[in-house]
Amino acid sequence: MSKKLVLVLNCGSSSLKFAIVDALTGSETLSGLAEYFGLLNSCIKWKVNGEKHEADLGPFTAHREAIEYIVNIILSDYPEFVAQIQAIGHRVVHGGEKFTQSVLIDETVIQDIENCAGLAPLHNPAHLTGIRSAQASFPLLPQVAVFDTAFHQTMPEKAYIYAIPYKLYRKNNIRRYGMHGSSHLFVSREAAKLLGKPLLDTNIISAHLGNGASITAIKGGKSVDTSMGLTPLEGLVMGTRCGDLDASIIFYMVNRLGYTLEDVNRILNNQSGLLGISELSHDCRTIEQAVQSGHKGAILALEIFCYRLAKYIAKYIAKYIASYTVPLDRLDALVFTGGIGENSSLVREKILNLLGVFRFELDNDRNQATRFGRQGKITKDNGQVALVIPTNEEWVIAQDTISLVN
Ligand code: ADP
Repeated sequence: MSKKLVLVLNCGSSSLKFAIVDALTGSETLSGLAEYFGLLNSCIKWKVNGEKHEADLGPFTAHREAIEYIVNIILSDYPEFVAQIQAIGHRVVHGGEKFTQSVLIDETVIQDIENCAGLAPLHNPAHLTGIRSAQASFPLLPQVAVFDTAFHQTMPEKAYIYAIPYKLYRKNNIRRYGMHGSSHLFVSREAAKLLGKPLLDTNIISAHLGNGASITAIKGGKSVDTSMGLTPLEGLVMGTRCGDLDASIIFYMVNRLGYTLEDVNRILNNQSGLLGISELSHDCRTIEQAVQSGHKGAILALEIFCYRLAKYIAKYIAKYIASYTVPLDRLDALVFTGGIGENSSLVREKILNLLGVFRFELDNDRNQATRFGRQGKITKDNGQVALVIPTNEEWVIAQDTISLVN
């Protein structure tokens, strides 16, 4: 079968992930990461045919130089791959209300992505730099933007309007948008396949637990509610982000404790979550190791992480019952994904124990067997179903890109 290769680019504020993905199978011919942009130690790592490589990019490198390196140095060794690349797919974090699905990039689209930049000031400008650089390096290839927010544009008003003056939504677009759309979409499709049900008839709660974490209620393949909000700060406890909190804490910190707004922004985004509570690390693996050795901060951080997540799951399960007047069995599966969801049997065990009242009964052997890229069911038969499904956002981007280009 001939391949349909797509170069997938995910430009973050100080890094760039790239992969050449076959849209038909999801397999990655080549993948890599350029990071530490703007610093002295900018570098690039990549993997091809199972072999790992790395190189320095030189000081103060950014997206343009990294893309030029990928094109001129890395890809020049593999002309056979380059010849097969049919298009470039860009991950774009924020598409506001403008983008409800992926689009072919033209000047109007670039302008619209720029218009949404206020909603994702760290991400959208970086995506635009990536898009411009890719256009310069691959002038003949079509380029597609795939938005993290698009999947959640199916949410009903009651899920996305905040209880603040409505004109802040009408005039200033302040509302819940949600993120991790490609991941939630991917695992909901895979879950339907695993369950042997049509997607349109499948109800899923999907928990994407990585450094960033979000949970989405998905009914018949469509997002009906999600935990991230205007920005990726709201919702679950994350590696360094606080998730939900009383907004008055911000005023208290500024007015009473003398922090500046910039301090508070940095604290809530970069110094909170697992890191803030544990005073040890943002990384779940380090937290788990410290829990084993009795580190009090780590124990508390993991407990709060799981408790907050279980609370959201319970809320969404109640929503399936309350909003759709259907029995609990109509929730077909709770799905764990992302680095923590796919690998941490401990977190999954703690969550399902907290949710016992909803008839989740953990199967220990299955829970241990589904780690490090293996998918499957982790609950006992006859109760509520919980699944682990490794996510593949790059494949979603490649699929959308090819379908638009064709
Ligand atoms: P990102 O949001 O940056 O894409 P990932 O999805 O890669 O992040 O998830 C990173 C998180 O997954 C980190 O907290 C890491 O510690 C956690 N993780 C990865 N492997 C394991 C593991 N074996 N056990 C527990 N946590 C893990």
